[in-house]
Amino acid sequence: MVTDNFCELFEEIYQHPAQAMSAAPGRVNLIGEFTDYNNGFVLPCALEFYTRILYRKRNDNKVVVHSLHYPGECDEFALDTEITRGDSQWGNYIRAVAYVFKRQGHQLSGVDLLIDSNVPQGSGLSSSAALEVAVGGVFNQACQLNLSNETIALLGQEAENDFMDCQCGIMDQLVSANGKKAHALLIDCQSLATEAIGIPDDLSIVIVNSNYPRKLVDSEYNQRRIDCEQAANKMSVASLRDADIDMLDNARSSMTENEYKRAHHVITENSRVLNATQALKNNDMQMLRALMTASHLSLRDDFEVTIPETDGLVEICQTALGNAGAVRMTGGGFGGAIVCLCRHDDIDKIKAAVSAHYFSRFNIQASLYVGKAGNGLQVTEF
Ligand code: ADP
Ligand code: MG
Repeated sequence: MVTDNFCELFEEIYQHPAQAMSAAPGRVNLIGEFTDYNNGFVLPCALEFYTRILYRKRNDNKVVVHSLHYPGECDEFALDTEITRGDSQWGNYIRAVAYVFKRQGHQLSGVDLLIDSNVPQGSGLSSSAALEVAVGGVFNQACQLNLSNETIALLGQEAENDFMDCQCGIMDQLVSANGKKAHALLIDCQSLATEAIGIPDDLSIVIVNSNYPRKLVDSEYNQRRIDCEQAANKMSVASLRDADIDMLDNARSSMTENEYKRAHHVITENSRVLNATQALKNNDMQMLRALMTASHLSLRDDFEVTIPETDGLVEICQTALGNAGAVRMTGGGFGGAIVCLCRHDDIDKIKAAVSAHYFSRFNIQASLYVGKAGNGLQVTEF
């Protein structure tokens, strides 16, 4: 869905029509959490929720940007001087992308931009990656850079790492760029090889956002990453991708308790992703259920990124679905969302259980989305 008069609004704001639209989706990760920046495996899918950007090239070196989500606010910056952070929190994402494209040596020209999105923000569906990839799509097309979707994704990740100071891995941007309708994407984050895995027709993806306000979590998130790197160092491997449980146990005495636990999560999660890929291919709900449950417990006990609200939501949905569904927390943790895989007929059980139990236990309303796997980045000229 896109705001009805999106194109008219662009014309109203900029006094000329848009020339093209770049659209990139949010995503949900089915399994493989915190494995991406350890060069491991992840299995996300792009969702049919999109961030869309209408644009028109300008005759100067200015980027002007409005977002329908922040009416009355406008960010504006020049491309021919150093790009630094501005006052607009969301405008910084556009600056971030322009900054890394320029740093890479790409010649950019000024653009007028208007953003619309139905990717919920801060819900764990990665609206930030959708925005970065969509902005990358704008510059790629408007400036005829001929970059691959993979390169646009890598630049989006750099934007988030180096300008926004969030040390995320490549998963969100890569699946936003390369997602495929009705498929999940198995990503080998070491080689960036991807394999599209068909999602069985009778499987629904339900995302329940805890709506717990995430605050000051970047430092926690970044600390997990440091713990993982330290653990890899102590096992003398380049990344946790190259470690196994025996190596971990042998090096345990040299590690802090946190380094051991973080690495234990990553090593076991990598093998769960590969097994879940097979289970998805076989439409094997029992196996998916066992693997997603184990993933959640590992995130709770080893990686320590769940909170009572997300643990509670998982428990509520697991109880509602019984053997008929697979449930775990998804995304960066410290709040955010959980994901359930179930048959279409069972969606109502989740809805009923969440409305009966979540608010009464936690005093927050949850939001529920039934997601469909959609395509990645698309740029359409008018
Ligand atoms: P998540 O990626 O989980 O949705 P983040 O906090 O990483 O949450 O990113 C959300 C931020 O991305 C917003 O606060 C805003 O700055 C920016 N953003 C996302 N979507 C839009 C949009 N449609 N318009 C403007 N900014 C957006
Ligand atoms: Mg984000």
